[in-house]
Amino acid sequence: MVRKTLQWIQSDLARPEEQLAVLGDPARVPAGRFAGQLESIGAGPLRRDCLQIVQINVGRVCNQTCTHCHVDAGPDRKESMTRETAEAILEFLARSTASTLDITGGAPEMNPNFRFLVQQARAMGRNVIDRCNLTILLAPRYESLADFLAAHQVAVVASLPCYLEENCDAQRGTGVFAKSIEALKRLNNLGYGREGSGLELHLVYNPVGLGLPPDQQRLEHDYKQQLADRFGIVFNRLFTITNMPISRFLEDLLAQGQYETYMQKLIDHFNPATLDNLMCRSMISVDWQGFVYDCDFNQMLDLPIPAGGRPHISELTESALVGLPIATANHCFGCTSGCGSSCQGSLT
Ligand code: SF4
Ligand code: SF4
Repeated sequence: MVRKTLQWIQSDLARPEEQLAVLGDPARVPAGRFAGQLESIGAGPLRRDCLQIVQINVGRVCNQTCTHCHVDAGPDRKESMTRETAEAILEFLARSTASTLDITGGAPEMNPNFRFLVQQARAMGRNVIDRCNLTILLAPRYESLADFLAAHQVAVVASLPCYLEENCDAQRGTGVFAKSIEALKRLNNLGYGREGSGLELHLVYNPVGLGLPPDQQRLEHDYKQQLADRFGIVFNRLFTITNMPISRFLEDLLAQGQYETYMQKLIDHFNPATLDNLMCRSMISVDWQGFVYDCDFNQMLDLPIPAGGRPHISELTESALVGLPIATANHCFGCTSGCGSSCQGSLT
C-alpha cells in the first residue's frame, strides 16, 4: 500500500498542475514551480537543439539495489529490452546523425542484447558509452565483459559515490567499494583511463546525504589523488551528479520527512546558467520498450516527449525533434541547481 501511494505521488510529480499538493504544504514547494521559474526569467519553455546522444535504458534488472537508485532497479525486476526493440533503436541510429549511443539500465550488461547493440553501433562508427556499476565486471558469467568493452573501445562511465569505503557501501551496499576497486584495477590493466589508450574511464559521484554536489574540478582532483595513492588507480574525468527527487531516493526522502527540505534546497540554488547545457536539449532517452522521452528521469516519471501520443523509436524522425518543447516538472530543479547536473556531470 505504501509503495502504491509512493508510485502515485511519483506519477503526480510529473504533472505540474497537481504535483506536490499531496506531500504537505504546497505553498512551501508550489506546484509547477519549475515552469514558473523559467517564465520569470524569460527562459521557458525549454526547447530541443540538434540530437547528439541516443540514450537507451535496456531494463531495470541489476545485480545491486542502491538506496539512491532513480530507476528502482534490482535483481528481481523483469523489465528487459527485446531484440526487436534493440533493432528498432539501431535502425533509428543508422538514419540519425547522433554521434553517441549511451547504454544504461539497471546493469545494462545483464541485458541479453547488450553485446549486439555495442557491436552494431560501433560498426556504424558511433561512440558507445556503457554506464557500468563496476561490480558486474566481477560477477559470475561476466568475466569476459571488461575485455569485450576494451576490444570495442566502449567508454565506461562508472559509479563510485565516494573514495571512502564507508560512504560508498552505505549507498550501494556492503562490500561494493572493495569490488569496485578490484573492477577499476581490471579496467586499468586493460588500458582504461590511461593516456593514449583511447579507452575512456569516467567516474560518477553523487552525494551520499541531502547535499548538492561540491565543485566538480576540486572533487576530481581529490578523487584522483586518493585513488592513485591508496590503490594505484587512474581515470579520466569525474562527473558530479545531483540526486534526483524521484523513485527510490524520493521514497527515502519521504520516509525521513526530508522531501520538502530537499526540494527547497534545490529551488533556492536554481542557477539559470545551467539552462543552455541541459542534456535534454541534445539527447533522447528510449525505454526498454522503445518509447521515447527527453531524459532518463522523465522516463521514470512516464513523462513522454511532447510530440503527441506516446512516441515510439520505430516511428521517430530526427527532424521532428528539433525545436520541440521539452517536458519539464519540478524534478528539473535537480538538473538546474548549483553547478547543474547531467549524465556528463556538472553544467557550468
Ligand atoms: S544505481 Fe545503478 S547499480 Fe545501483 S541499483 Fe540502480 S541501476 Fe543498479
Ligand atoms: S529532468 Fe533534467 S534533463 Fe530531464 S527534462 Fe528536466 S531539466 Fe531536462
